[in-house]
Amino acid sequence: MENQKILLNKKAKVVTMGCQLNESDSEKLMGMLTYMGASLTDKTELADIIIFNTCAVRENAEKKVLGLLGSLKKKAEEKPDMLIGICGCTATQPHIAELIKKKYRHVRLVFGTCSLARFPELIQEAMQSGKTVIDIEQRKEVPEGLPVCRGEGPKAWLPVMFGCDNFCSYCVVPHVRGRERSRAPQAILAEAKAIALQGKKEIMLLGQNVNSYGKGLAEPVDFASLLYLLNDVEGIERIRFMTSHPKDIHPRLIEAMAFCDRVCKQLHLPVQSGSDAVLSAMNRHYTRAQYLEKIAYARQLMPDVVLSTDIMVGFPGETEEDFEDTLSLMKEVRYDSAFTFIYSRREGTPAATWENQIPEDVVHERFERLVQLQNQISLEKNRALSGKTLTVLCEGASKNDPRMLTGRDEGNRLVHFKGDPSWIGNMIPIRITQAESFCLYGEVL
Ligand code: SAH
Ligand code: SF4
Repeated sequence: MENQKILLNKKAKVVTMGCQLNESDSEKLMGMLTYMGASLTDKTELADIIIFNTCAVRENAEKKVLGLLGSLKKKAEEKPDMLIGICGCTATQPHIAELIKKKYRHVRLVFGTCSLARFPELIQEAMQSGKTVIDIEQRKEVPEGLPVCRGEGPKAWLPVMFGCDNFCSYCVVPHVRGRERSRAPQAILAEAKAIALQGKKEIMLLGQNVNSYGKGLAEPVDFASLLYLLNDVEGIERIRFMTSHPKDIHPRLIEAMAFCDRVCKQLHLPVQSGSDAVLSAMNRHYTRAQYLEKIAYARQLMPDVVLSTDIMVGFPGETEEDFEDTLSLMKEVRYDSAFTFIYSRREGTPAATWENQIPEDVVHERFERLVQLQNQISLEKNRALSGKTLTVLCEGASKNDPRMLTGRDEGNRLVHFKGDPSWIGNMIPIRITQAESFCLYGEVL
């Protein structure tokens, strides 16, 4: 990247919506903004540049960002040299770019997920031309060497692959993040070492489907071998990854997880549904039985493995029986936690065109039952930890109560405790005294 300080004296705000990959992309956006001379702010009223990094997985996320953009129109008219931009998954859809051009003319920069590395050129062009600059092209190259402005605290995101080739029939991700591309293992290793040198202790390896890491690379490398490689990085004490696709999680990977002492015994394995008919219509390429076999193998090698999942209700054609299969799978696996989603019809995906959509009231009723069941299971599993001691990586002050500290154990369970801010970044033994569905409370031993 050429070092042109074209943004000296400008204040910039990056608003991140969506998943960890967006968080990670925003760290690069902030890195590039800083490199170009801007100072970062989180105050909208002070910002000369505001970039919205958006999510498109569900319709609500899209509506929310369009609402936010709309609300800035007056401000942009009062401050003509203000630059408002939108990037990420929502921005990458051609119909959204078209909408922005026609109805949100105060938004002067629209760039897609594959254009992140072009951000410096694009912002310069938008500032000089005064017109709306749009770049939502899909590109194959993997950007390397961009400056990163990492957040505070002992954890770091580390993307290992981009895009997705799976085309689940409900999902917009492959359409907005392009085909799967893996980073070279040497680049990932170098970044992990740099993260360790910054004093961070935990890395989260990111990708839409990390289990298919390595596909298309010249050298024969898979995700399991990447874990073995990263397990030796001095200073990194915890390694996690997400997301895993059940069809691609093979025994070799579960064995690598079990073997590598720094890889957390924690697995997020989105199941989506417990019904074979729904899984097939979703184009997920595994059955309930195959999924359960993989869970059983993980538990055989790592008896205390902490499990979480993504589950969707109201997928087109889902019958009451299908839904009950999902509930029974939840009871069988007894996940420690789950992200639960109401199916959202996404333009450009096959399922959006099907006629067998489920009425809203039925979906909401099922969703309530699903959430209730998982909350009950989470509470029971958390209560069973009472009196036990967990090693917690202290992350900082609790968001709800700044007098408390907060952190996570190896299983990624959230733990609140009283302590000294000087403990931030350290591993602390905490005895659990109280449990709720979503978090634990404890005291220092
Ligand atoms: N690549 C990951 C997940 C990416 S999206 C994986 O395959 O597991 C995160 C979650 O959002 C998905 O697991 C799914 O449960 C949910 N999701 C994706 N598309 C959705 C849609 N159209 N409606 C509702 N939830 C959706
Ligand atoms: Fe979407 Fe499926 Fe790819 Fe996950 S694996 S990002 S759900 S298409």
